[in-house]
Amino acid sequence: METKREFLKKLGLLTVGGMVAGTMSPAMASESKGSMAAKKKSIGLQLYSLGKEFYEDVPDGLKKVAAIGYSTAEPAGYREGKMYNYEVTEFKKLAQDAGLKITGSHVNPPVRKYTKENKTEISDFWKKTVDDHAKLGVISLVQPGMPTIESHDDAAMVCEVFNNAGEIAKAANIKWGYHNHSGEFQRVVKEEDKGKQTNRWMPAGDIIYDLMLQGTDPSLVFFEMDVYWTVMGQQDPLEYFDKYSGRFPILHIKDRSILGQSGMMNFENIFTQAYKNGLDEFYVELENIREGMTQFEGVKQCYDYLDKAKFVK
Ligand code: MG
Repeated sequence: METKREFLKKLGLLTVGGMVAGTMSPAMASESKGSMAAKKKSIGLQLYSLGKEFYEDVPDGLKKVAAIGYSTAEPAGYREGKMYNYEVTEFKKLAQDAGLKITGSHVNPPVRKYTKENKTEISDFWKKTVDDHAKLGVISLVQPGMPTIESHDDAAMVCEVFNNAGEIAKAANIKWGYHNHSGEFQRVVKEEDKGKQTNRWMPAGDIIYDLMLQGTDPSLVFFEMDVYWTVMGQQDPLEYFDKYSGRFPILHIKDRSILGQSGMMNFENIFTQAYKNGLDEFYVELENIREGMTQFEGVKQCYDYLDKAKFVK
């Protein structure tokens, strides 16, 4: 069997010093050109992933996130008109200086139960929040906390409030979305269906997440599916991407801990199907890490997993 050296010599690629010469075979050249031309993947991070490590030094934290390789970030630190206690324009500048683009933001309204009486209060909240986020230059604004939904009427009221928030954001050219946990996959049952079964395994009733998808206007409200929480809600993200195609332009990519390490999440299938149904961007989210590891080390491992993964564009 010929050695690599003999093989290269035969191809005329080995120079006197034993270095591979500048000329490459067409196959090698095109392969190399391909990898050189491949643009850096745009991978985002939900900053909540860093926990208190981020709060300790926000300017430095933003730099560290960019240094790992993340291009975009979705903060979860908007309180009373400020972002992590900075003026929003100041925070924007800090991120820019770090080389990070703030493309989204997680914000919850001040109430959980939506009623006819408080919907104006919620609407005013979104007006102010949208104004501040327009200054920040985000593409999307997302509500990550579930409102109280115990009936179909509650769901209808929530959808009305979501559509209103979407309208307010749209006027400022911001996409408004909703982020799920697992509670959205519980069912609400109409009075007349209580105690009935859909089939042998399934109780009667409608899954709240479906009511949200069906009751909101696709031109006003998108869904930032957290794929891990969907699985925790005993549902298949792929079925949703297919059934409600186009409603999931942004995802939260999350696993039990470091991405790809549990046996619970099939990220290859998730990305493949999500791209087919209109995925534009995604944010990594990390919560539980091993003892002895920092959150920054954890989010670096998550980044490396997606950066290496062939199924991530
Ligand atoms: Mg999430």
